[in-house]
Amino acid sequence: MSDTNKTSSEQFTREHLDQFQVFRDVLIDPIWELLRQCEVRKLSEGEVLLEKGLSNRTMFFVLGGSLKVYLDDGHQREAAELGQGQTVGELSVIDGSAASAHVVSAGETLLLAVDEDTFWRVTHASHGFCTNLLMLLSLRMRSSNVSLHESENLQGKFEEQATTDGLTGVYNRRWLDQMLPRLLQRSEQDKLPFCVLMIDVDHFKNFNDNYGHAVGDIALRIVADTLAKKVRPIDLVVRYGGEEFCVLLPETDLQSGIGAGERLRKAIHKAKICDSNDKPIPGITISAGLAQWRAGENAEDILKRADQALYVAKEQGRNRVETSA
Ligand code: GH3
Ligand code: MG
Ligand code: MG
Repeated sequence: MSDTNKTSSEQFTREHLDQFQVFRDVLIDPIWELLRQCEVRKLSEGEVLLEKGLSNRTMFFVLGGSLKVYLDDGHQREAAELGQGQTVGELSVIDGSAASAHVVSAGETLLLAVDEDTFWRVTHASHGFCTNLLMLLSLRMRSSNVSLHESENLQGKFEEQATTDGLTGVYNRRWLDQMLPRLLQRSEQDKLPFCVLMIDVDHFKNFNDNYGHAVGDIALRIVADTLAKKVRPIDLVVRYGGEEFCVLLPETDLQSGIGAGERLRKAIHKAKICDSNDKPIPGITISAGLAQWRAGENAEDILKRADQALYVAKEQGRNRVETSA
């Protein structure tokens, strides 16, 4: 969105709202001031509005032009085209999830960008808006259930391109390789710090030997779940391989990263894991290495430094977080 032009809000009028189903039969007066103050964005052809997997905190209303929705990174598989009167981004705003597709401007497109705070104010101020939104979301769920059914035989193809790990459900290495460079680029553009936390379960070979591989698998799922639950919504959890995980911490400097690492380390130690007889197993521990992104570094560099810090944590006795020099 780097080239996005902000344009005068004069291009947005009350008449535009008539095109949106979500405003049908809605009293506009109580929400007009909120909407009027929202940013109007103009995108040129090919400009990316949303990137799959990245956080989004804005609901966009298409005032003019159109947007293309792609499910794949190469922008080959077009899933939909959204024109005047349609909206995108509301699900991420509601549940804090990352964008589920790439959304790109198909030509010159004019959008009303309603940020998270304004979105919730509008829902508080307008019962009609909420009711319409519920209807729209339920329609969308129904149609995606139908297309899910229709695409069952395409599943094999999608699996090849899967970006999540089969055992734990968190992102996999393939996803990390694709996304980390983009996330770093974005942090650089926004002049925000970025940390990578590399995590490895301590003495996991012994764990498998003592309790069996199946219990080991369950333990890895619990580790992944605990990480996913204890990070902030903008953080991203990846299974790097085997018993190693990587947590990406956008907008985080080294000091806050240490805080996050310690919080995760303690949470995993406290997590309840049982053996095959349902008897609780003493808490497992993790070691972690933290690196803050430095100007000029690429994805490989920062991963390497986090890994070196992890090695130091192991050397220093495990069950600890170390930072990269
Ligand atoms: P350290 O504290 O030095 O990390 O010791 P470690 O035993 O954890 O390290 P090591 O690399 O020797 O062993 C990793 C173990 O993790 C061995 C491997 O069987 C186990 N492991 C890796 N992936 C999986 C998996 O998917 N399921 C299970 N159950 N075990 C796994
Ligand atoms: Mg390991
Ligand atoms: Mg290990």
